[in-house]
Amino acid sequence: MLKSTEEVTQNPASTSIINTELLKACKTETGLANQDNVNRWRVDEIVALFELPFSDLMNKAQTMHRENFNPNAVQVSTLLSIKTGGCSEDCGYCPQAARYHTEVEDEPLMKLEDVLIAAKEAQNSGATRFCMGAAWRGPKQRDLEPVLKMIAEVKAMGLETCATLGMLKDGQAEQLKDAGLDFYNHNLDTAPEFYGDVISTRTYQDRLDTLGRVRGADINVCSGGIIGMGESRNQRAGLLAQLANMSKPPESVPINLLTQVEGTPLFGADALDPIEFVRTIAAARITMPQSYVRLSAGRQSMHEGIQALCFLAGANSIFYGEKLLTTGNPEAATDRALFNKLGINKV
Ligand code: SF4
Repeated sequence: MLKSTEEVTQNPASTSIINTELLKACKTETGLANQDNVNRWRVDEIVALFELPFSDLMNKAQTMHRENFNPNAVQVSTLLSIKTGGCSEDCGYCPQAARYHTEVEDEPLMKLEDVLIAAKEAQNSGATRFCMGAAWRGPKQRDLEPVLKMIAEVKAMGLETCATLGMLKDGQAEQLKDAGLDFYNHNLDTAPEFYGDVISTRTYQDRLDTLGRVRGADINVCSGGIIGMGESRNQRAGLLAQLANMSKPPESVPINLLTQVEGTPLFGADALDPIEFVRTIAAARITMPQSYVRLSAGRQSMHEGIQALCFLAGANSIFYGEKLLTTGNPEAATDRALFNKLGINKV
């Protein structure tokens, strides 16, 4: 495996990313310089993976997958929007941003009992993790408190808990941990070089800082991005390099295919070649061998043959249920039929 000596990920404030120059110096001092104990990926190394003949790439990804996971098991999560729309941010793909005119209707924070009914339904249909998403820039303390109760009650039902609430301030991750939160989702979305084309109301560093707080509170990190927003292959590789080079890569890496929603700035973006999407999944699997790679948004428009290739490339997690926050997702019965066809077991 190729190792980086040059790509120093810029993240001065966060502890979540290693400075690879320091790492190299440290390895030399300790006599570990030539040992294959730490993987750092340069962007050009990941681009080289993308450029492999498809069969070679799939073989590498599948081999890596089998070394680390049961290849016929897929983890299943359900995602519920607990507070919808009216968000002050300007993420160019998102129908929940208040500034874009979409068909999404704003809804206030759900009541605890309604969240628990949805969690029970998810559990009954086979989900093992329940993710609660709120369209906020970040939670204020008065927002956080009812969510803490939701987390505690969902956890008590025997489900793993996940939340995506936006940027976290100091101390908030610890409160979430104490309530029983297992995973926090906060996506990097794309490579740093393309980020400004998509979002202007929060910086890349803001995102890394939130991920650092999540890691610091000992909550599992769920972080990935969106593919098909007009980024280059280099930038797709750049996103994966950011994730793979964290001192501990995210436990869960959602790879979303852009769902184009009328009224958002990215509506009308050129559609991504589906094979390029599969290549992205394969490169994620190779560069983050021990992470769950989640095939996330965009599955509804994806032919089942492409989904099968994604599983072959090492995707081993999906969202289950008819809705992903505000956009569509395949029906659970459709997923069950596909899993049966492929001999995949839910875990
Ligand atoms: S992605 Fe999240 S932060 Fe960005 S506009 Fe949508 S709800 Fe707000």
